[in-house]
Amino acid sequence: MSKSITLIPGDGIGPEVTTAAVQLLKAAGANLEWEEVEAGEIAISKYGKPLPDEVVESVQKNKVALKGPLTTGVAKGFPSANVELRQRLETYASLRPVTNVPGVKSRFAEVDVVIVRENTEGLYSGLEHTITTGVTQSLKIITRKASTRIAHFAFEYAKKWNRKKVTTAHKANILKVSDGLFLKTCQEVAQEYPDIRHEEMIVDNLAMQLVLRPEHFEVLLLTNLYGDIVSDLCAGLVGGLGLVPGANIGKDYAVFEAVHGSAPDIAGKNKANPLAIFFSSLLMLEYLNMEDTAKRIRSAIYKVTSAGTVLTPDLGGNASTMEFTEAVIQELA
Ligand code: NAD
Repeated sequence: MSKSITLIPGDGIGPEVTTAAVQLLKAAGANLEWEEVEAGEIAISKYGKPLPDEVVESVQKNKVALKGPLTTGVAKGFPSANVELRQRLETYASLRPVTNVPGVKSRFAEVDVVIVRENTEGLYSGLEHTITTGVTQSLKIITRKASTRIAHFAFEYAKKWNRKKVTTAHKANILKVSDGLFLKTCQEVAQEYPDIRHEEMIVDNLAMQLVLRPEHFEVLLLTNLYGDIVSDLCAGLVGGLGLVPGANIGKDYAVFEAVHGSAPDIAGKNKANPLAIFFSSLLMLEYLNMEDTAKRIRSAIYKVTSAGTVLTPDLGGNASTMEFTEAVIQELA
């Protein structure tokens, strides 16, 4: 029986890269059926809000979604639909494996780090207001409950995938109460995993260490905002946002999406690199226990990237999104 998946094409380059992913998955014979729903700018014009209830209900029904990016206005407009979706579905763990891709030139060659970002609270709780003209306040919410479950997620991930070290990054020297609670909770959870080393690092030092010796890191455990920033930093280590996948995972639901945003500068030009959503789709296939199909697709992708002749412009090539996708499909065994 085929598995029904919610498809959220999203904004900007979202429809281009998700169309490419659906085409690739179909060509690989993945037994999936797509239920397409509208979120983002198109939903604002139709439903008056970027995240209609239909989207959340569709994911609740199907349990799994593949999602393109959603645009969020800067210093104006609706609160982020991305953040709202994660909060409403309680997909509390953002998992972002960052590795070198064979054949893709990058500043570093031995990057293999997995980012685990808390997805439901921190500075993204949406609690901010103007106290009086010229004075504003944003609340950073850190709870023991959310910190405990994300720490468990990171250590369980390390255990499952045989990773020897988890690095928790924080700013508890300044934010003694909120980051202090996060750090203390992670230290307590770490004690339950004596075979995995727990390292603590102040987040600004982490930023420097990552660009000096990224090979030092295996699993990074981060609060919401730090996880967001460090994800883009790590993408830069391996060649850019066009390459890095992600999964938002909770107890009941999982939403797979690239780390990148809607990339308005290249939207509609058939220039976007679809690899990040391809790799996100592979995380989805693995989550659905379709590992064999995932392996076949990964091997086809690596053949194309290793040959280096059909690459999108962000990787120094001149192929379009669809030409790259076709090249990968040609290599499917
Ligand atoms: P962005 O990730 O959209 O783009 C940053 C840079 O990376 C741009 O130069 C872009 O062209 C490039 N880039 C990104 N993805 C690429 C790809 N697949 N192939 C080639 N180049 C790629 O970040 P931004 O410009 O800061 O944000 C644009 C919008 O996206 C904002 O509204 C932001 O809120 C939103 N956003 C959404 C998500 C999400 O839906 N999960 C994530 C991040 C940003």
